[in-house]
Amino acid sequence: MNGGSFINFDANATYGVLPEVAEEVLSNHSRYLNPSSIHRGGQVARAAIEDAREEIRTLIGADRRDRIVFTSGATESSNSAISSALSGATRENNLVCSNVEHPAVLETCKSFDKVECRICEPEKLREKVDENTRLVTLMLANNETGKVYKVSELFTYVKSNFPWIPTHSDCVQALGKVEINFKELFADTISISGHKIGAFSGVGALIIKDGAQFKPLIHGGPQEVRFRAGTENTLGIISFGIAARIARQKFESRIVRYKAMKLWFSDKLESELTRKQIPYQINFKDEDSLPNTLHVRFPGRKADDLLIALDLEGVLVSAGSACASGKPESSHVLLAHGFSEDEAKECLRISFNAETRFEELASGLEALVRCL
Ligand code: PLP
Repeated sequence: MNGGSFINFDANATYGVLPEVAEEVLSNHSRYLNPSSIHRGGQVARAAIEDAREEIRTLIGADRRDRIVFTSGATESSNSAISSALSGATRENNLVCSNVEHPAVLETCKSFDKVECRICEPEKLREKVDENTRLVTLMLANNETGKVYKVSELFTYVKSNFPWIPTHSDCVQALGKVEINFKELFADTISISGHKIGAFSGVGALIIKDGAQFKPLIHGGPQEVRFRAGTENTLGIISFGIAARIARQKFESRIVRYKAMKLWFSDKLESELTRKQIPYQINFKDEDSLPNTLHVRFPGRKADDLLIALDLEGVLVSAGSACASGKPESSHVLLAHGFSEDEAKECLRISFNAETRFEELASGLEALVRCL
């Protein structure tokens, strides 16, 4: 099944592999052998991995001494960072985590039932930090709402008052859409993921600040300077490096494009819905938010039904509910923002990638109005 042609308005879930990434990786793919081997097949793979590491380092403004550790994705990166920060923590300790985190962070924090888990609104996190805190974690941008958070402000406060407390940020959605300067974030660790920027799925990275304490999650061989055992996902890592290079080279032009697309789409949507007297509410409009993400509520209409109707039209979006154990549950992020269970189920997230064409915007919008 190849799914036929479709319009990806769900780029925050997966960007879609960039054709230039696929081409460049696959043109040389059979030459990459085990990067730990000392023969030339290993050395070719090793060199390509190191090139990818440097591309990622440049994209996020990390120092030469900071560690870029390749992982299977941001879920593993955050699990590693959190379990490292909490190793040795006791019942007297606590962790401080925002209530809008992706499950990769939120559920991992909750799984450490030995420590007190202080979960609250991003704006109130600093009030929860004290000398017994063993971790403070806040994402840079939210995958559902697109909201961008003041991570650097919070972590500067933490580091000036409690310099020993590890700080972690999930930067998955910010990568390529918001300027990330690792030095200025005051994070000890950040997580990023390849498939959100046009690389293959199944590859991510954990960035560890020079001098920060780190205990690996995965033990075994000496790969990734013993920070993450297991044979590297060479093709995935190379794809991540190429996508990072493209994200850096096209950063400014993509932002301009994203902003133009979002403005055009929301203006046109508002005027069409007003004309047709269809009730709607554009959320998080005036807030600092990702330039590619639009969040809309259609009162009285189930977003899941809309999602399916749009899928039949070849337009892919995502809804404010997730199907866990066969029953759609309202998103914890929207509930945290004060939406009721029912309101959350009326929300749709539309997220573009930088390759979305204006014709696609127009036909996607037309389909959305038709489905409504
Ligand atoms: N964090 C955020 C904000 C995400 O959007 C995602 C993916 O949806 C993840 C973490 C998990 O990333 P991965 O799929 O690489 O494990």
